[in-house]
Amino acid sequence: MNPNQEKPTQKKPKKNSRRRPRKHPSSSNKTEGRNHKRKNNQRNSKWNRHRISDHFMKRDFDSREKDCTTCTGSLRISLGLVGIIEALRAKLNQRVDILTGYYCSDCREKKYGIKRDHHHSGVAADIRVNNMSITELFLVAETFPEIKGLGINFDDNHVHIDTRKEDERQTWVEKDEEWILLTEENRDQFIIPTHNDESNDTENTDS
Ligand SMILES: [Zn+2]
Ligand SMILES: [Zn+2]
Repeated sequence: MNPNQEKPTQKKPKKNSRRRPRKHPSSSNKTEGRNHKRKNNQRNSKWNRHRISDHFMKRDFDSREKDCTTCTGSLRISLGLVGIIEALRAKLNQRVDILTGYYCSDCREKKYGIKRDHHHSGVAADIRVNNMSITELFLVAETFPEIKGLGINFDDNHVHIDTRKEDERQTWVEKDEEWILLTEENRDQFIIPTHNDESNDTENTDS
């Protein structure tokens, strides 16, 4: 009685030329069993498909509306924008939350009605960082010359960045439903660098 004893067969694939198992409906289970050791790689490659950079997934930038007929088009994300957000993240050493990324121009009109919006081109994101005021975030974003559109939104507590194709940067404030272009003159009214500790809000006693 030796049902389990089999001659060593030559069936065993010694060399698997297909390094990356492709998804094939009929062989997916087999593939998974045979390539047990590659499970990690498989998972990574699956993850890679949804990933757009080291720390961000495509869906992080996807603000398309399910019930919008024109949002059904493909997702547009500028890699330049993604690179800048990665750079911001590295500089701050903190997670950057993307509140809004790409949506279609219809959505823009219906929901936001902002004229100078670049979300529908895939080059804009509204961002926020935990435990950091939007003013601080705004000031850091300002140090990136690639950001050509930079807005600070006090109504929704976020910073808008975009990489529109312009030479000059445009900077603005959104506050009380108003859109105000920032100039040298009015800047100090809105961009007030805060010290980290809000409770330690002492008056300035310069003498
Ligand atoms: Zn839409
Ligand atoms: Zn925005």
